[in-house]
Amino acid sequence: MNEIEALARANVRELTPYQSARRLGGNGDVWLNANEFPTAVPFQLTMQTLNRYPECQPAEVIRRYADYAGVKPEQVLVSRGADEGIELLIRAFCEPGQDAVLYCPPTYGMYSVSAETIGVDCRTVPAINGWQLDLPAIEAQLDGVKVVFVCSPNNPTGQLINPDDLRALLEMTRGRAIVVADEAYIEFCPTASLAGWLNDYPHLAILRTLSKAFALAGLRCGFTLANAPLIQMLLKVIAPYPLSTPVADIAAQALSAEGIAAMRQRVAETLDNRQYLLEQLGTLPGVDQVFESQTNYLLVRFDRSQPLFQRLWDRGIILRNQHKQPGLEECLRISIGTRTECQRLLDALNQLAVRANQETL
Ligand SMILES: *Cc1c(COP(=O)(O)O)cnc(C)c1O
Repeated sequence: MNEIEALARANVRELTPYQSARRLGGNGDVWLNANEFPTAVPFQLTMQTLNRYPECQPAEVIRRYADYAGVKPEQVLVSRGADEGIELLIRAFCEPGQDAVLYCPPTYGMYSVSAETIGVDCRTVPAINGWQLDLPAIEAQLDGVKVVFVCSPNNPTGQLINPDDLRALLEMTRGRAIVVADEAYIEFCPTASLAGWLNDYPHLAILRTLSKAFALAGLRCGFTLANAPLIQMLLKVIAPYPLSTPVADIAAQALSAEGIAAMRQRVAETLDNRQYLLEQLGTLPGVDQVFESQTNYLLVRFDRSQPLFQRLWDRGIILRNQHKQPGLEECLRISIGTRTECQRLLDALNQLAVRANQETL
């Protein structure tokens, strides 16, 4: 241990940082590993007042997002991506070294990274029956848990969590813990949102983002929806200026009527390409199973995923490897790219299947 390691907090010394798609690198020209929208949307900067500090919660962004989500402005918090929302929820509700968060793997990796960074324990209750909630096991683990994360639709598996189970979870946790519904992909299945449930549940928080369907992953802008008392608690721990002026400027444009119409157009395009990729993958040798998805990605189980992942990587087609996640042996996650990118992936998979076939002859 060097002297700096010796000075660091023990939990930070032990921490493995989040393996984001960007950190993993790769030398690709077909990027299907981070569930981004595949093409860039143009924006103009209109605010030229960078000598002034920005608003902590830019009013126009809050108002437009509340309109879009069908909630009241006091039920919206804007932050540096949904990832900051995850961190704020843990910081506001979990006592380090004492309380715990709970989540159901396989799921999004930032719940554990944020909890571990803050020094909060993680309880895991593996998903069952098509990656649904194991409610009795969650109930048995709930003592000391302050925040339960449920990702719906789930990343990386793509399916929605059964709404009856979400109701049961919200009843079980009433007065005991915050339930966080991560709706990063909700634009791809908008009728499944829990936003309409906020009136029933003071302990429900919903995470949203502009990174996926809004095609703005590089902007770093996300939202937490909850009732006012919960939002007020998060506002106590948020940075004084979480969003820069240009971010607020572009976010407001993305949430204009035209911005939302353009987003819906992109969603339709993505769903179209997803259907195409799903059908084509189903006809390929070496594909064991393509899982139903409500999102902008497909989880696919291959006969031998690891050499395939590497060979695609070598050809500049970068997917997300899920092989090491519990229950996802031989699975790769494929973001829905442009039609051309889907085609390039399918062509490469076809060539590799032919080659594999020749090698075994
Ligand atoms: C992408 C993603 C996020 C993070 O969104 P940002 O707004 O980019 O921080 C949160 N949750 C899930 C499930 C995601 O896939």
